[in-house]
Amino acid sequence: MHRVALSCLLIGLLGGSVSHAQSDFKVTLLGTASPAPRADRFGPSTLVEAGDQKLLFDAGRGVPIRLRQLNVPLGKINVLFITHYHSDHTSGIADVWLTGWLSPPFGRRTAPFRVIGPAGAQALMSNLEKAYALDIKIRLADEKLPPEGIATAVEEFDKNGVVYENNGVKVIAFEVEHGPAIKPAVGYRIEYKGRAVVISGDTRYDQNVVKYGAGADLLVHEVGSARPELLATSVPVQRIIAHHTTPREAGMVFSQAKPKMAVYTHIVLLSTEKFPEPTLDEVIAETRQTYGGPLTVGEDLMSFEIGETVTVQRYKH
Ligand SMILES: [Zn+2]
Ligand SMILES: [Zn+2]
Repeated sequence: MHRVALSCLLIGLLGGSVSHAQSDFKVTLLGTASPAPRADRFGPSTLVEAGDQKLLFDAGRGVPIRLRQLNVPLGKINVLFITHYHSDHTSGIADVWLTGWLSPPFGRRTAPFRVIGPAGAQALMSNLEKAYALDIKIRLADEKLPPEGIATAVEEFDKNGVVYENNGVKVIAFEVEHGPAIKPAVGYRIEYKGRAVVISGDTRYDQNVVKYGAGADLLVHEVGSARPELLATSVPVQRIIAHHTTPREAGMVFSQAKPKMAVYTHIVLLSTEKFPEPTLDEVIAETRQTYGGPLTVGEDLMSFEIGETVTVQRYKH
């Protein structure tokens, strides 16, 4: 096993809870970065496993590698949900789709690749089909891979509501405010057996996250932070932070939604040569100005079992 439970000391510091019950509702952070290329944090993506269903939310840089570390075959992903069309959330889609079709055990998809997202999903997938047409043609002829496995089945939606329902799993999309020019942008609430996981997507402080996040077992939220001196002097930094939720604002969301566990992902920490990025301890301290409940700073491959309590596990690299 590659996993270790967070120590009680750390859990205590983070305000979490420890339980060892197994649950069939589980969330794993596959990538927790912003667009900045880093070896320790890959592009934004979250895996939700509910019963025998595997749902992927966004597919940023490196997702196939993270799924391989979990021994989850790419071909076993049932649906990809897209929050919005910034490339850090979509640059891994072609890799999941194409590599998941290959014949080794990490692939083997034999049914169409299903994608659900706001307006733009159809154009993205049909243009990927054009971009990779020669690869598809070659592998069909050379490797005799099943044509159905590389087909796509795309569904677009244009309003808040249920976008997926299957075998006890319900996914509800809700609009979020990522910036006036960045539309559409949505978050998702995933419900299973009376429990709920909410993924904010990229958003600034938004009351809709409070509304759809209310009473969630796990609230997975983005965060963006820069040192006050940098924020005061850099217009590009001000623009980026205006597209995201500061730790203080995220704490306000958590205080109102009251999840059993709040977790940060998509951790945007801005810096220049003169001003270093805020530390994670500083992000936590700022959150604590507005929120006193359970909080975890996400890491790649950190997982959360959603049972009577939420159990946090770190991945041992
Ligand atoms: Zn974005
Ligand atoms: Zn992003």
